[in-house]
Amino acid sequence: MVNYIDTHAHYNDEVFKDNLEETLTKCKQAGVDYIINIGYNKESSDRSLELAKEYGYIYTTIGIHPHDVGKDKAIDIYDIYQANHNNKKIVGIGEIGLDYAFVNDNKLAQSDLFIEQIEMANALNLPVIIHTRDASLDTYRILKENKPQHGLLFHCFHPTDDLVNMVLEEGYTVAFGGNITYKRNATFGNYIKKIPMQQIVIETDCPYLAPEPYRGTINTSAHLPIICKKLADYKEMDVEYVSEKVYKNSKEFFKIK
Ligand SMILES: [Zn+2]
Ligand SMILES: [Zn+2]
Repeated sequence: MVNYIDTHAHYNDEVFKDNLEETLTKCKQAGVDYIINIGYNKESSDRSLELAKEYGYIYTTIGIHPHDVGKDKAIDIYDIYQANHNNKKIVGIGEIGLDYAFVNDNKLAQSDLFIEQIEMANALNLPVIIHTRDASLDTYRILKENKPQHGLLFHCFHPTDDLVNMVLEEGYTVAFGGNITYKRNATFGNYIKKIPMQQIVIETDCPYLAPEPYRGTINTSAHLPIICKKLADYKEMDVEYVSEKVYKNSKEFFKIK
């Protein structure tokens, strides 16, 4: 059986509250060995850490998403880390970044929070998980000036020339999700071919971004095989080879033993 690691899931989302156990059982049956559950503000980071304590195969990141600028502060995340600093299941700071599609009248505040969290990750020896939407130029600039020192993962990677060049130059990691199956993203193929296999992992971003033909429904990690297959198609590689590679890359990136 082929096995999978979901490098970006939100089982801390309300939508999973009533059927979490059943959903996770289905994921295990689909071959999902590990899940990296992602925090996006103070409350969801706390909840994600609880999930990591409860389930052996769930790891967590903690961080504040650009949507929560002005609500929570970087120090809130630092406090969570400090209160749990012996917990080896905190494997990254994220998701952090810029999102101008959601709000764009607070660019400076988004950038300040982003930079503060990169500095925190560097101080804590953790990698960063980056969310960037309609903000590739500023993301590029900030990352040039504030280099993450312990690994960088662009989640739900939306390739642009600048970002792909940065990924190739710096050896950063990218995660592809369900959106690579959408028709409007057919142009991703040219970029995907350019990025070396050792820099690619897969994710679901569940409950969001269900792959075709499930688009619009609640996504879960059980859909990883569809995403892996699409990635293999773009790479023109054998799907078993691709699944083994992304599995190994994910374990290495998050230092899962
Ligand atoms: Zn995101
Ligand atoms: Zn996310």
